[in-house]
Amino acid sequence: MTSPETKTCPNCGHINSTKNTICTRCESSLEKSATMLKKEASAEKKERKQKDRYNRYQAQEQQREQYQDKQKTNRRELAQEGEVTIKGVDIPFMDLVILLVKLSIASIPAAIIVAVIGFVVMGALGRFASLLS
Ligand SMILES: [Zn+2]
Repeated sequence: MTSPETKTCPNCGHINSTKNTICTRCESSLEKSATMLKKEASAEKKERKQKDRYNRYQAQEQQREQYQDKQKTNRRELAQEGEVTIKGVDIPFMDLVILLVKLSIASIPAAIIVAVIGFVVMGALGRFASLLS
């Protein structure tokens, strides 16, 4: 039991005289009572919980920021991919000849298609003109 003349050590429970500021058995401070310590501990716990929540929030924020950063760089990369700049053509002569031959061969059906489109358009225009007159 604690009397006005004694202090119970909050650490080991040893009863010390009020003159002592340090427990004679375990040398821990007698300045704080056990209830104060308990209160402090609960406050600390609360603080830790808040800190935890804050840390979690920060981590989430960081994650979101990283995600946004990633998206930004992705978008930038896409934009860069969209712009293809040809800085020079380095084709061996025979490859170039083959390419040109292929182009001229391909230009035959291309010309036919263009001609067909031209005929269709001209025909439609002709019919339109005959309707007007
Ligand atoms: Zn003690």
